[in-house]
Amino acid sequence: MPLEGATMKITETRCSRCDRPLRSAASIAAGIGPICARAARVAATGFSADQLDAAREVIGLGGVAHTSGRGAARVYAVAGSRGDTYSTSAAGECSCPAGTHGRRCYHLAAVALYAGTVPAHAA
Ligand SMILES: [Zn+2]
Ligand SMILES: [Zn+2]
Repeated sequence: MPLEGATMKITETRCSRCDRPLRSAASIAAGIGPICARAARVAATGFSADQLDAAREVIGLGGVAHTSGRGAARVYAVAGSRGDTYSTSAAGECSCPAGTHGRRCYHLAAVALYAGTVPAHAA
């Protein structure tokens, strides 16, 4: 890229996905903007943005606890939205109504984030 004079900011960091300038320190550190990070997260995990938001919320409230098992056999107790608690495995099974019907519920997203199976910078 040719130099175009004094107006060019050499230190400007751009989003690795959409090439827009990044403003927040967190975005600059991650090298990706918040909207793109969200989109990348959705693409990487297969969970919807809403599910990931709900998952982060339940983790933030301390609603995820490791109960048994190791590795892919880890099982977590995950707080449900109505005061109930579900048994959710790192392997992708959940005892909630959606999970027992084979759907990918946000409890699975919470366990994936909590267990670190989603890269930390994407969480
Ligand atoms: Zn972007
Ligand atoms: Zn569930």
